Amino acid sequence: MPQRASPEQPFRIAIVGSGPAGFYTTEHLLKRLGEAVEIDLFERLPAPFGLVRFGVAPDHQKIKSATRAFERIGAHQAVRFYGNVELGTHLSVDELHRFYHAACFATGAESDRAMGIPGEALRGSHPATEFVAWYNGHPHHGEREFDLSAERVAVVGVGNVAVDVARILCRLPEELERTDIAEYALEALRASRVREVYVLGRRGPAQAAFTTPEIKELGELPGADIMVPRAEAEPDPLSREDVAASDDRALQRKLEILRSYADRAPTGKSRRLVLRFLVSPVELVDDGSGRVGAIRLVRNELYRAGDGTLRARAMDRVEEIPVGLVLRSVGYRGRSLPGVPFDDARGLIPNSCGRVVDLSTGGVIPGFYTSGWIKRGPTGVIGTNKPDAGETVDCMVEDLLAGRGWTPEEPDPQAVDRLIRDREPQVVTFDDWMRLDEIERSRGEALGRPRVKFTSAREVARALGRIWGD
Ligand code: NAP
Repeated sequence: MPQRASPEQPFRIAIVGSGPAGFYTTEHLLKRLGEAVEIDLFERLPAPFGLVRFGVAPDHQKIKSATRAFERIGAHQAVRFYGNVELGTHLSVDELHRFYHAACFATGAESDRAMGIPGEALRGSHPATEFVAWYNGHPHHGEREFDLSAERVAVVGVGNVAVDVARILCRLPEELERTDIAEYALEALRASRVREVYVLGRRGPAQAAFTTPEIKELGELPGADIMVPRAEAEPDPLSREDVAASDDRALQRKLEILRSYADRAPTGKSRRLVLRFLVSPVELVDDGSGRVGAIRLVRNELYRAGDGTLRARAMDRVEEIPVGLVLRSVGYRGRSLPGVPFDDARGLIPNSCGRVVDLSTGGVIPGFYTSGWIKRGPTGVIGTNKPDAGETVDCMVEDLLAGRGWTPEEPDPQAVDRLIRDREPQVVTFDDWMRLDEIERSRGEALGRPRVKFTSAREVARALGRIWGD
């Protein structure tokens, strides 16, 4: 039966995940439904903003300014933020039905893909996603250790995450000191003995996933000389055909930049960043103590697959680079949520334009929606999530107005609030977050840094003046 919400009886929506996807979904709902909607935003971490806070590199502060818009949304009177509250631990999906008309899952892609080669589990081999979370002060990754006493490091993959990781490894301490990198990471990177960083692409320069501004920035690092072997900077004949047939100016510019790096002579900077193409890791070699001692690479050539794309195929030439640390940056991957359908092969929530779908029947599950990376996979920049969330909200609003949502038994906003606070006394509200934000900024101001982050739930509780049981 069609429903009409009103300010007295608004639609109540739960959004799980407070990264860009969660905030953009909230923003679209407020725009579409005005006073006829109330939104509870759940976040398992004590701080909001997901990938903007914990993924975007600390030396890319401009990108982090997206949070200004999120702050306005979070402070809206129809929005409540519940930090430190995890779906499945503090609230089940079944319980969401009791309190809300619909739920949207916007939990991103917090896990990573593996390379599937021997030696990947050796000490000194890590997903780049963990390194990123560590240097960004993600509360679940502060305890990790990365051996920065190694002189040589390999970063596998040539996407923007690989570029971020390589750039952070090549930044001088005085550059990092001006960022909001986690304190412990700053200390570790100050003591870093890393002098050579290899970034390894399995296909050629024309297929590299990194974008032009990001690769240009790598050539402007004060502390590292960049180089690309001349033979690898040139696209192979098949790629040249594709480039000539396309009018992709950004790609042409990217190739020009890579060529210019091949022509550069080293200027004697203390670090070296080497971009390699047409090589695939086939094994991480044990140094005899269970640690990575080298990475074995096979040379590739490109061939045209049936779908027209150019893919890598191993040839018989193998080489070995001695490295003490390997960071694989071959893509993020979504994690399943308890009680929510999951497509394990694709690492995302199966959906049709944001409406969650039951994989076995192919039918839409009423009241379940998804947005962001967990909806479409880990692609695109922060802003890509805005139209993506818009698509989901269009579906949600259409369904709600047609009466295809849930009928909550306890729509009183206080009911769910009581239940959550009973289960998790350390809830972080948006007001709490604004206080934390202010403290972080003032701690940073004294040091000429944008902020000094709190990096654990315990630190957050202390800063909020709460007693934290030991
Ligand atoms: P990505 O762009 O998908 O790049 C993944 C890279 O891993 C590709 O180079 C891919 O090569 C390679 N790869 C995959 N499997 C491999 C294997 N088995 N062996 C060797 N290489 C392999 O992913 P990402 O870097 O994680 O970035 C995720 C998204 O976030 C992207 O959309 C990115 O642009 C965005 N992002 C943006 C910024 C920024 O704007 N500054 C910063 C960070 C991230 P193939 O192409 O051959 O598969």
